[in-house]
Amino acid sequence: MLVERVALVTGASRGIGRAIAIALARQNAKVIINYKGNKEAAIEVQELIRQSGAEAQLVQADVSSSEQVQEMMEKILKEYGRLDILVNNAGINRDTLLMRMKEEDWAQVMQTNLTSAFYCLKAAVRPMMKQRSGKIINISSVVGLHGNVGQANYAAAKAGIIGLTKSAAKELAPRGIMVNAVAPGFIITDMTKQLPSEIQDKIISGIPLGYLGKPEDVANLVVFLAGPGADYITGQVISVDGGMSI
Ligand code: NAD
Repeated sequence: MLVERVALVTGASRGIGRAIAIALARQNAKVIINYKGNKEAAIEVQELIRQSGAEAQLVQADVSSSEQVQEMMEKILKEYGRLDILVNNAGINRDTLLMRMKEEDWAQVMQTNLTSAFYCLKAAVRPMMKQRSGKIINISSVVGLHGNVGQANYAAAKAGIIGLTKSAAKELAPRGIMVNAVAPGFIITDMTKQLPSEIQDKIISGIPLGYLGKPEDVANLVVFLAGPGADYITGQVISVDGGMSI
């Protein structure tokens, strides 16, 4: 149970972030649902959580903006006075082969998937250091571990998340703050639904368990890492991929 723990999940209006927000709320955490533009979807997540009897707040912010992240954190600290769990989940992809990749495709993916995590982590660490406790969970990807054709920008950003996780884990361990990364394989969300079915079939053929993952599969691990059962785990990258990366 995560009673009285304040948890911020970035990009929580849909997909994996939504599942994480709902799963943390099920453990009675007070969940802050960050969203960039889709307020309606974010309200839906908030309503779902409130109906289950848990607490949820919305906070709009584009996490690729340092100013907006700082404002978001000020609002959270004004309301709750603390932050116990940060899940850096927001992400985008702009897939294309290297030869066709525009500088803009590179920069947007790095800014949204990697630099945003640095902004949020930096802002969260201040209250966590005062509390001398905290759990930070960064959503990486198996692509960050192994690379992928057409995803050089995304793979570089997700590999960057791993370096950030390990460095932050070493730096923050003496303050009681644990930092881990989760590397999902192929999870059914809006990000992956757009792939043609023949590519999806090819991906499935490389997954030992033989099927695609659900957002809840990732959320279950995040809940574990956020809880007291994972207090001796830090700086790790854990795959949730049906065995894809074996
Ligand atoms: P998704 O596209 O369904 O959701 C991404 C969320 O991030 C959306 O709610 C979006 O609004 C939000 N977001 C994007 N840019 C933002 C910004 N600047 N500020 C705030 N929010 C922003 O994708 P998903 O599949 O749920 O992905 C969630 C995370 O999991 C991402 O980091 C993604 O890279 C990672 N991931 C997904 C898969 C997969 O197979 N779906 C695999 C590995 C890793």
